[in-house]
Amino acid sequence: MQVLMETMQINPLPIKASRIGLGTWAIGGFMWGGTDEAASIKTIIAALESGINLIDTAPVYGFGLAESIIGKAITQWGNRETIIIATKAGIDWEQGKITRNSTPAQIRKEIDASLVRLKTDYIDIYQIHWPDHTVPLEETAEAMHALLREGKIRAIGVSNFSVEQMERFIQIAPIHTSQPPYNLFERDIEKNILPFTEKHQIVTLAYSALCRGLLSGRMHLETTFNGDDVRKADPKFRSPRFDEYLSTIEDLQLFSQQRYGKKILALAVRWILDRGRTIALWGARKPQQLHGLQDVLGWNLNMTDMQKIESILLEHIKDPIGADFLAPPQRPAFMEI
Ligand code: NAP
Repeated sequence: MQVLMETMQINPLPIKASRIGLGTWAIGGFMWGGTDEAASIKTIIAALESGINLIDTAPVYGFGLAESIIGKAITQWGNRETIIIATKAGIDWEQGKITRNSTPAQIRKEIDASLVRLKTDYIDIYQIHWPDHTVPLEETAEAMHALLREGKIRAIGVSNFSVEQMERFIQIAPIHTSQPPYNLFERDIEKNILPFTEKHQIVTLAYSALCRGLLSGRMHLETTFNGDDVRKADPKFRSPRFDEYLSTIEDLQLFSQQRYGKKILALAVRWILDRGRTIALWGARKPQQLHGLQDVLGWNLNMTDMQKIESILLEHIKDPIGADFLAPPQRPAFMEI
C-alpha cells in the first residue's frame, strides 16, 4: 500500500529521496543473530511499495549478503532508476575479521564488487563507512571524486566523520551526505557536526534511528538477544542504563500517546525528521516492522513539544552514552567476530 511519503532533494541526484530510508544492516545477518533471505526480500519490496526509495547498505553487512539480497529484490521490483542505493566502502574483512581500509585501491576493488552484488551499473550515494586514519584523507577523497567523474557513483557520502575530517575532504571532493548515529538517545552530532552539515547543505542520513530497536517500544527488562547480536555488547542494553532508557521510553510513550495518539516509534522517527536536513534510516528485516510508517508522516513536532521531550530525557538519563562501541578497529589491528 502506497503512503504519501515526504521527500528531500539530495544534490546532485536526479530524483528526490524519501525522508525515511530502509537500513539493511540486520538484513545482512552479521552482528544481528543471522538473517532470513525470503523475509528480507519481502521487507525491501514492502518498503518500496510504501514509498521508501532510499536503501542504505554496506559490503560488510553480512560480508556481501545484504547487498546481494538487495540486488535480488531490486531485480524483482524493476524500476532501478526510481531507487536510491546508498552503499559504502572502507571496511575490509579477512577470515571473519574486519578492519578499516580506505586506500584508493581498496575503494576501486569494493565498488566493482558492490556493483556486481547489487546488479547495477551505478551507485547513487557512495559513502566512506568509517574514516581510516592510516590513509591521507585527501587520497580517499580523490578516489571518490574520480568515481563521481566517471559516473560510477552519483553522489559522495561520508559516515562517522568529524567536522575536521569533512573540512579536509571538501577541499578535494564534494560531500553530499553525512551518515552519523542520530536518534533521541544519541545526539553527539548536535554540538558541531549537524551545524556544519546544515551550513554546507549536506544531507544527514541519520543511522540507528530507532537506537537499534530500543525506541521501537518493544523492549523490556527481560528482552534477550541471540547469537552475535550487536545489542549484547551495547552499553544501553545493560543494567543500570537499560532500566533508565526503558523508563524514559515509558514516559515518552505516555506523552506521545496523550499529545498525538501515536506510539513512541512514530515520535522517535518524527523527532529526527524535524531536526533539520535529515533522512531517518530505519532498520527493518520483516515487512511488519514497517507497518508504523504512516504514523510518522504528515505532522510535525512544535517547539513546546521538543522542549517537553527534552525535559523527559533530562529527567531520566543521567549518564548518556553514544554509539562509540560500534567503531571498527584501525589496521593493523583486527576485530574478532
Ligand atoms: P535501528 O534502525 O535503530 O533499529 C533497527 C532494529 O529495530 C530492527 O532490526 C528491529 O530489530 C527493530 N525494529 C525495527 N522496526 C521495528 C518495529 N516496527 N517494531 C519493533 N522493532 C522494530 O538500527 P540500525 O539497523 O542500527 O540502524 C539503521 C540503519 O542505519 C542500518 O540498517 C544501516 O543501514 C545504518 N547504520 C549505519 C552505520 C554506519 O556506521 N554508517 C551504523 C549503524 C547503522 P529486531 O528485528 O531485532 O526486532
